Amino acid sequence: NSIIYNDPEPGRVRVSVRLRPINDDLASDTDYADCVELQPEMKKVKLRKNNWNSESYKFDEVFTETATQKRVYQVAAKPVVESVLSGFNGTIMAYGQTGTGKTYTVGNLGKDDASERGIMVRALEDIIANTSPAHDTMEVSYLQLYMDSVQDLLSPDKINIPIVEKPKTGEVLLPGSTVVKIRDLDHFMELLQKGEAHRHAANTKMNTNSSRSHAILMVYVRRSVPGRLDTSVYSHEKVRGTDLLGSTGIGTFQRSKLLIVDLAGSERIDKSGSEGQLLEEAKFINLSLTSLGKCINALAENSCHIPTRESKLTRLLRDSFGGSARTSLIITIGPSARHHAETFSTIMFGERAM
Ligand code: ADP
Ligand code: MG
Repeated sequence: NSIIYNDPEPGRVRVSVRLRPINDDLASDTDYADCVELQPEMKKVKLRKNNWNSESYKFDEVFTETATQKRVYQVAAKPVVESVLSGFNGTIMAYGQTGTGKTYTVGNLGKDDASERGIMVRALEDIIANTSPAHDTMEVSYLQLYMDSVQDLLSPDKINIPIVEKPKTGEVLLPGSTVVKIRDLDHFMELLQKGEAHRHAANTKMNTNSSRSHAILMVYVRRSVPGRLDTSVYSHEKVRGTDLLGSTGIGTFQRSKLLIVDLAGSERIDKSGSEGQLLEEAKFINLSLTSLGKCINALAENSCHIPTRESKLTRLLRDSFGGSARTSLIITIGPSARHHAETFSTIMFGERAM
């Protein structure tokens, strides 16, 4: 628990920025430095407003286009995973315009090359390595939040899962969602792949794109903590009183939850040019990302009111966000000068957390 108690700003969202390398097909369109300059050693991003003015913004970390998946995991995700292993909830999110590397960063399976594995796989690998199959369990759900509906990516027929809050503890529950107990990393990767296939099929059926929905992996960790009550500074009552500890009657296990979220693309949809479904989707994405921004902002300002009830996205995150939970936000940007305005607004979103 030392991670949390030594942390001077436990509730603040940690923000890192990652620049995607140039894709081959865009080799002629590379001048991102026109608007953004990374200063990784100072953990700063400098935004050029015009020929004369620029402003620097400091983040917790700045990853250049050469940063490896391993390094991004170790810096931006591992501290959250470690605190989940010690009994706290946590959230890791990727935010950015479509095509800037959110899915690569969080969801990549790295089937042919393990060095390419993203945060979901590395987090599970870490959790498996640091728990004992005899005493601990880990279970996962994989969901998609599309417009106003929570859909189960592990059982595609479940398309409207309610979000319920447990009255006393505030724990967020998703009754009816599929929860699978993980045996090993291969088992997890199979599930993730199955979930991705279901996501693709569901989105094709709904005639939408996966960038128009949020993908949410939930990892439930339950660990037995033998001897904890004897050695702990907490009394039995206090231990039972916290929402992170399950009470079996003996009260010797801790439960925590890790959320890994691949957010919908943050790009503005041209409202004048779109209608019908696209416009409806845009409204929901806008609502959810705006409300996420408000919560992040409230946490940064140490506000006692975090407005988590304004969207389904923030209701889902409610117990894994702020307070004793650790949160990491990875802002992804692309190298193209054509996307200057989007890159700018993406950076400004992250800036609100600092
Ligand atoms: P998003 O999920 O934000 O829409 P993707 O993760 O699908 O973006 O990335 C777009 C493309 O760029 C993909 O082909 C992906 O493999 C590639 N890509 C993204 N980030 C990196 C990176 N850091 N290194 C190599 N390729 C990347
Ligand atoms: Mg994606």
